[in-house]
Amino acid sequence: MQLRQGLRVLRRATDEVQVGLDPRWAVRIAGLTPERAERLLRAGDRRVDDALPAPALDALGAAGLLRPSASRARRVRPDLRPEALAHGLARADGDGVDSVRRRAAATVAVAGLGRAGTAVATTLALAGVGTLLLDDPRPTGPEDLVPAGDGPDRATALGGVLRALAPRTRVRTGRGLAALLADPPDVVVTVAADTPDPATALALLGADLPHLPVVTREADALVGPFVRPAPPGGPPPPCVRCLDLHRAEADPAWPTVLAQLVAPGPGDGAAEPPAALTAVVGGLAAAEVLAHLDGGAPSTAGAQYEVPVPSVAPRLRRWAAHPECGCAALAG
Ligand SMILES: [Zn+2]
Repeated sequence: MQLRQGLRVLRRATDEVQVGLDPRWAVRIAGLTPERAERLLRAGDRRVDDALPAPALDALGAAGLLRPSASRARRVRPDLRPEALAHGLARADGDGVDSVRRRAAATVAVAGLGRAGTAVATTLALAGVGTLLLDDPRPTGPEDLVPAGDGPDRATALGGVLRALAPRTRVRTGRGLAALLADPPDVVVTVAADTPDPATALALLGADLPHLPVVTREADALVGPFVRPAPPGGPPPPCVRCLDLHRAEADPAWPTVLAQLVAPGPGDGAAEPPAALTAVVGGLAAAEVLAHLDGGAPSTAGAQYEVPVPSVAPRLRRWAAHPECGCAALAG
């Protein structure tokens, strides 16, 4: 057996070594001879089962820190090594390389490329998503992250930046919703000010396309709910309309307010988010997409992150499907 890759191994005393720093799996191995402690400290990719006593191996095994030594370390692109190492440690099966390979085969669409959408798309490209479909026909403005001179519209301008930043990611631009539905990607991220567009959300739901709405408002942002088919035997997850039906129950004027958010007048609409909020929203939304692509469960399936300025500390709020929505039947 070998130690799983990416673990820090540290001396605590002459006869004691700590494997791992993360409290989810870190373990102390005590009672080692100096030679065995030294061997563990310098284990690297070498076998440890011929150098450690059974109780030490049992402790490492119980903490999930061992992998069969017969399994050769599979190669991963150097720029994606951080993804494979950290996600490998966090996954129950320890296979970060599998995560990276799933992402490379995946296609994700990001529609709405202001600051938040740009942060989402950039993070997904750096995390190794194979193909990104970028959609935003609006010209770049002075608040955008991508320089205005890089293209006639936001999608083209960001595409140019991503080709330089993450050259192994294929970038296609300007497809629009109809094209997305004709040749569906694995996930669609919609990024908008004030509220997700209800018609877009309904179309994505009807097409059974996993999608994640991201909204930036006056001084906060909402990430989720991640809408995808319910797990077998699980409760139906809420959709965008479910949340609006819940809000209308609590506030009968919500539909009137929502109509103004969906069709803002000239000069209306929330400003672009400030920098720290942009960075957090980009990371949270990308992590949700990656969780889905990696075969895990997004935190916002049945929930929504609320991220307020100035702390930008996300709070996860749970939502249920609304009984009057009928989305479960539509999606099923
Ligand atoms: Zn619904």
